[in-house]
Amino acid sequence: MTVAVVGAGLAGLSAGWELNHAGADVVVLDAGRQPGGMIVTERRDGFIVEGGPDGFLAAEPDIQELAREVGIGERLVDQVARGATVWTGRRLEPLAVGRAAEVLGIQGRWDVGAQHAAPLHGGFTTFTTGMADVVEALVTCLGPRLRTTQGVTAVAPSARGWRLSFTGGSSLDAEGVILAVPAWVAARLLAGLGVSAARSLDTVVYAPSVTVSLAYRADQVPQTLEGAGFVAAPDSGSAVRACTYAWRKYPNRAPDGYALLRAFLGPVDGDLGAIAHAELAAILGIERTPVWSRAFHWPRGLPRYPRGHAERVAAVRERLARLAPLAIAGAGFDGAGVSACVRSGRAAGRRVLERVSG
Ligand SMILES: Cc1cc2nc3c(=O)[nH]c(=O)nc-3n(C[C@H](O)[C@H](O)[C@H](O)COP(=O)(O)OP(=O)(O)OC[C@H]3O[C@@H](n4cnc5c(N)ncnc54)[C@H](O)[C@@H]3O)c2cc1C
Repeated sequence: MTVAVVGAGLAGLSAGWELNHAGADVVVLDAGRQPGGMIVTERRDGFIVEGGPDGFLAAEPDIQELAREVGIGERLVDQVARGATVWTGRRLEPLAVGRAAEVLGIQGRWDVGAQHAAPLHGGFTTFTTGMADVVEALVTCLGPRLRTTQGVTAVAPSARGWRLSFTGGSSLDAEGVILAVPAWVAARLLAGLGVSAARSLDTVVYAPSVTVSLAYRADQVPQTLEGAGFVAAPDSGSAVRACTYAWRKYPNRAPDGYALLRAFLGPVDGDLGAIAHAELAAILGIERTPVWSRAFHWPRGLPRYPRGHAERVAAVRERLARLAPLAIAGAGFDGAGVSACVRSGRAAGRRVLERVSG
């Protein structure tokens, strides 16, 4: 009995882990060349550069439990510098703990429901050599069961359960399927199957954003920076919406003698490294140009859930429960945080396993 997981972001990899661990025959398929989805860690010249998520709340258990299960529990590392300031447009002012997300307009601390909201006072946690540590561990566990450059174009009923069609024309039959893809992809695949309620999943809006990492020599950056970063007040007029002092927030993000900043920009045209540097130089008092800068584009980044989202997802799940084993998982449905994605993926794995073996 084969279960196909579509999407090898953290949710899909977690679903794959759950199924593989339970002894199911699983195959995890991703359209891209690299697994991990929004988790993109680049390691260069002693720097650890995160293009997507850089950590999670220390109080969120799911990703940490998974890390321990896949044998990388000792790679969990806690935040060092704490606290944030707010850039008013004129100066940096202290910001109360937990208000950064509010200033940025990010929903529920990466999470959909208050029932899962973890306390902020415990700070954040990451992995020794970046968020890709957990992706790499899962990829190792899955081995050849993970296949990249496998874009799924359609899901249709088959005698065995489901038939997946791929870009290029090939197909795969499976008893169970987990769609661990963004909401708009799931909406399209499920609507093609006749689950018309799934069209409503397209109402999840993925906000575009850009992150720019900038490396400086330590002596270019004032020693007086406070906390782990700043957020910009919406009326500050700043293209930089937030900045993490990455080399102070977590250990070993930059080699000795260097500093690493990460700026979050709204949609903006031009040389992003130059724009980020110019603003950071003015706000933080940085001297001279960066050693290097690296921009990561997220045309569809963090999901924002419209009112009634949880009810719409529940209605789709109710409809799917009447079909052959088929589940949805991931940030588009159950919360944008990496820990919520692990929880969502593993829960989908268990649900489908129960159905295919029941
Ligand atoms: C800039 C940025 C910063 C963030 N920071 C944080 C943070 O600090 N902490 C935190 O907790 N969260 C953070 N997040 C959110 C978090 O990273 C994501 O919500 C989470 O990683 C999403 O995981 P996922 O598996 O649900 O989806 P994705 O990572 O989007 O994975 C979906 C996968 O599906 C594949 N796919 C799509 N269509 C198909 C198809 N037709 N066939 C096959 N495969 C397909 C894609 O290639 C992709 O690999 C951040 C996100 C961004 C963009």
